[in-house]
Amino acid sequence: MYKLIDGKKFSQEIKEELKGRMAELLASGRTRCLAVILVGNDPASAVYVRNKEKACAYIGIRSLSYVLPKETTEEELLELIGELNRREDVNGILVQLPLPAHIHEEKVLPAISPEKDVDGFHPFNVGSINTGRPGYLPCTPAGVIELLKRSGIEIEGKECVVLGRSNIVGKPMAMLLLRENATVTICHSRTVNLKDVTGRADILVVAVGRPGLVDGSYVKEGAVVIDVGIHRDENGKLCGDVDFESVAPKASAITPVPGGVGPMTIAMLMKNCVCGME
Ligand code: NAP
Repeated sequence: MYKLIDGKKFSQEIKEELKGRMAELLASGRTRCLAVILVGNDPASAVYVRNKEKACAYIGIRSLSYVLPKETTEEELLELIGELNRREDVNGILVQLPLPAHIHEEKVLPAISPEKDVDGFHPFNVGSINTGRPGYLPCTPAGVIELLKRSGIEIEGKECVVLGRSNIVGKPMAMLLLRENATVTICHSRTVNLKDVTGRADILVVAVGRPGLVDGSYVKEGAVVIDVGIHRDENGKLCGDVDFESVAPKASAITPVPGGVGPMTIAMLMKNCVCGME
């Protein structure tokens, strides 16, 4: 019988801890303020931004929202980031992705001061993961590590396979597992004999962005399976990259979608805002 890894419960636990920490900071006269920038009117992004504002309000973090029209130029966005970099009352800056096609992510993300880059996407923070110096950890992979630890799942010495090599999930995920002393393999669309590799995993983290791609035939008996994917199926229901029905009976523990990795991402963002670089 598999154990369901309850991301909703753990994220609530983290938010309570952060609320306590924030109350201590406020009592000693220190505030936290997150500036969130949304360019354009993508409905999913608008929901993410609202959820971040709600989480900030719950914990006691001040939030500033900048909702810019989709015609905003790259220069205008960079100007706003520069202004927020200079503001002493702003500790965190987040640019909601994806950006409209005419704005280049690779120009915008490095413009955020690394000390305020609470998403952990600035090259300085990306490098910090690799070298182990203090920095901001990207929220989704950090959330997966926290899920494993709070579920009492040992990482050290385990064979971990990360399916997906994106800059925001797959690659940093692999580095964080390595930091926990796992033996790590990264797979991607060019991996040969994919099922042979995923089938070795004690812990399999799936971030492929393909609904239900990973079925029971990819998974070893007794593996821990973490599903990072988020999609809406044809009925509008949320689903992941893992075919839960066929994988769960083989797994020793598995995350559901929704209620697994998703809520942890926002909790770790809040942690970055409250605790700063660690
Ligand atoms: P991405 O940038 O599209 O990367 C997908 C990765 O999967 C790529 O490395 C790609 O390989 C690999 N891949 C795609 N199809 C494959 C296949 N058939 N076999 C093997 N590998 C394959 O996606 P992402 O940004 O990492 O996101 C992945 C999923 O996580 C998405 O569903 C996204 O919505 C979700 N997500 C969730 C959260 C959260 O908070 N829960 C946060 C971020 C993302 P190549 O590199 O070779 O192309």
